[in-house]
Amino acid sequence: MTALAILGGVALTGCGGPETPRAETLAPPGSPSPAGPSPGRASPASPSAGSPSPAASAPDRAEKPPTLAPGPAGLTPVFERRAPAPSPSPGRNDKVVALTFDADMTADQGPRAEAGEHFDNPGLISLLRRSKVPATVFMTGRWAEEYPSQARSIGTDPLFEIANHSYSHYAFSTPCYGLPTVEEGEMRGEVERAFDAIRATGARQVVPYFRFPGGCYDDASRKALAPTGVTAVQWDVVSGDAFATDADAVAQQVLDGVEPGSLVVMHCTRSAAPVTEEAVRQVVPALRERGYRFVKVSELMRG
Ligand SMILES: [Zn+2]
Repeated sequence: MTALAILGGVALTGCGGPETPRAETLAPPGSPSPAGPSPGRASPASPSAGSPSPAASAPDRAEKPPTLAPGPAGLTPVFERRAPAPSPSPGRNDKVVALTFDADMTADQGPRAEAGEHFDNPGLISLLRRSKVPATVFMTGRWAEEYPSQARSIGTDPLFEIANHSYSHYAFSTPCYGLPTVEEGEMRGEVERAFDAIRATGARQVVPYFRFPGGCYDDASRKALAPTGVTAVQWDVVSGDAFATDADAVAQQVLDGVEPGSLVVMHCTRSAAPVTEEAVRQVVPALRERGYRFVKVSELMRG
């Protein structure tokens, strides 16, 4: 029991914990890729990996989510904060920020969910809807299986988009906050299985983006995921919501960290991120007051 609780703790901490994740900046969309197979072009997503099929796309979502060109040697590209281009036009609003919510659930947490632990956070989603805040949810396949109606609801609401956070929420490189490690030969399957689980719920707004559990990756994992066509997405603002008990402190940390183009990592998991909803309740009006507009990752990446 204790061991499971500790593992759960580690798992969530590993998803945007207090440490700054290793950062790597690659070419922005449309920029030449040093050694990518198609310099200057966004990479097409593998049909089986990420992009919604044309038939499943809502009419108002006809525009394909952008992806980055592969990195050197075809490695999975990594997207981070997109600094706005200097704009001479007064009044142009470059103050955009993407709130991202990781729906963590590790493969072995089923018994805890059965025992009544809430890995979901419907109140948070409702708040985002009421506040009309677009957001990207990085969902594990295990979470989608546990909460299929919520996954479908999120994934059919144009306000949101669902990205991939692996099936099991295990580490793609080590060390990674003590998470169990995915074997290299299973990495691609972890991503594909998560997309399958998410789509099986009926979710349609599924984008070909992937967040490494804990933000932990290396060249081997980037190589292993290259065939899936995903773009990995990191973050520059850690909300510190994992295991936080002080919503004011979480909100302040976000407000202190956000710059134009920021990517904020938070969680959509009540049991281990219990003050996130309250923090968001504070953050949203405060950022709007500063002139910020909330965007999904796909819009941020589009620039
Ligand atoms: Zn996570």
